Amino acid sequence: MSQMQDDRQAVAVQARAWFEENWDPDLTLGQWWDRVASSGWAFPTWPAEWYGRGLAPDLAAGVNAARRQVGALAPPGGIAQNLAGPTIIAHGTDEQKRRWLPGIVAGQIWCQLFSEPGAGSDLASLQTRAVRDGDEWVVNGQKVWTSGAHVAKYGILVARTDPNVPKHQGLTYFVIDMDQPGIEVRPIKEMTGRAIFNEVFFTDARVPAGNLVGEVGGGWGVALTTLANERTMLGAGSFASAGSSMSIGRHDLGARVGDLVHADGRADQSRSGAGDLVFQVLETYGGAGDPLVRQEVATIYTLLEIARFTDLRVRAAVEAGGRPGPEVSVGKLAASHLLRTMRDTLLRLCGMAATLWGDDAPLGGKVHEVGFSSYLISIGGGTDQIQRNIIGERVLGLPREPRADKDVPFRELEVGTRTGR
Ligand SMILES: Cc1cc2nc3c(=O)[nH]c(=O)nc-3n(C[C@H](O)[C@H](O)[C@H](O)COP(=O)(O)OP(=O)(O)OC[C@H]3O[C@@H](n4cnc5c(N)ncnc54)[C@H](O)[C@@H]3O)c2cc1C
Repeated sequence: MSQMQDDRQAVAVQARAWFEENWDPDLTLGQWWDRVASSGWAFPTWPAEWYGRGLAPDLAAGVNAARRQVGALAPPGGIAQNLAGPTIIAHGTDEQKRRWLPGIVAGQIWCQLFSEPGAGSDLASLQTRAVRDGDEWVVNGQKVWTSGAHVAKYGILVARTDPNVPKHQGLTYFVIDMDQPGIEVRPIKEMTGRAIFNEVFFTDARVPAGNLVGEVGGGWGVALTTLANERTMLGAGSFASAGSSMSIGRHDLGARVGDLVHADGRADQSRSGAGDLVFQVLETYGGAGDPLVRQEVATIYTLLEIARFTDLRVRAAVEAGGRPGPEVSVGKLAASHLLRTMRDTLLRLCGMAATLWGDDAPLGGKVHEVGFSSYLISIGGGTDQIQRNIIGERVLGLPREPRADKDVPFRELEVGTRTGR
């Protein structure tokens, strides 16, 4: 065994001992999340003084498995914990960390207010304005595709604070309280029947000056940290169950934690068990004897193995660079490819049954869940094409796309149907 494997094993043993000693199914959800957060095992890669253990991602890789072996419930995991927390740790002041991290580790729900109708891939073209007014900033504009905005306490918001400079330079990053009169959240219904994302309208919404993260005009650099963490979250490590790596919905902190662990176990299994779903479909709908089907199943198995391997490589790259870098795009692309391939194969294996919905849907709807969610990873967090651009330009060193607007003040640009003003 290499030194790294030895060290990872030692961490896993330590984590398992902690979970064995401290897991108690009779605690409430709030008590359990508090206990696991205070121990540093909920977010082991965070600094020791901020609820973590300062472990490199590669070393922490076995902690989740150790927890599952004990049957303990997972710590909270969503935009607050995977995106906002690491961004605040990297760019926030100590006062901001003291103010926000306790709520985040306790399971608070946050949302990500980045995309707009005219700014998705080209995020730096966003038009939501924030204007300083005394000790506050006043926000006007619109966001879209905002997952979880309907239940979020806070939002991480990128807004334009200076339209007179080139587009990347006039952005600022804020944490905004979602519970205020100037914010209207309207749900968008998906083809799955759910409504997990929303349109969000700001009309003179207010943000205290102390909620600005980083510098005025430095929002693009802070947003890049959030986006890289998002790609990690949606990447190869979480490939098998679209959506389940992002928990969206209110938590009942008073619930008995032992009653919740069963549902969590299923989510965990589905993440490691994409292959199981394929075999369940084969068992139910047949086809295992067909050489073409066997070939496709072998392809899925190979992609799963590649995704697992990519995830390890990505984690190693993150470890070397401190923060997630452009390499995470490789993991996200691998996840996207895997999900699409699974969707096509599973739906074809189900044959006519694939057209059924509701109670009659194949495997209680699990196949449609993969099928209809397969777009999630290929669009959310940056589309496949954008990941390829990042890999080409920033990993492989290919020539950059021409950027005619790089030095032009934002107000002079055509954005959507109007100028940036
Ligand atoms: C499930 C889900 C959840 C989401 N949750 C959130 C959220 O919580 N918060 C949030 O802010 N956003 C969220 N989004 C939005 C997401 O980040 C955007 O949809 C994404 O960045 C793409 O932007 P767009 O939809 O405006 O597409 P566009 O940017 O308009 O892209 C349209 C097409 O053009 C291609 N394209 C664009 N530019 C280039 C280029 N330079 N080179 C090659 N091809 C290009 C794209 O790949 C795509 O195929 C979510 C999206 C999904 C699907």
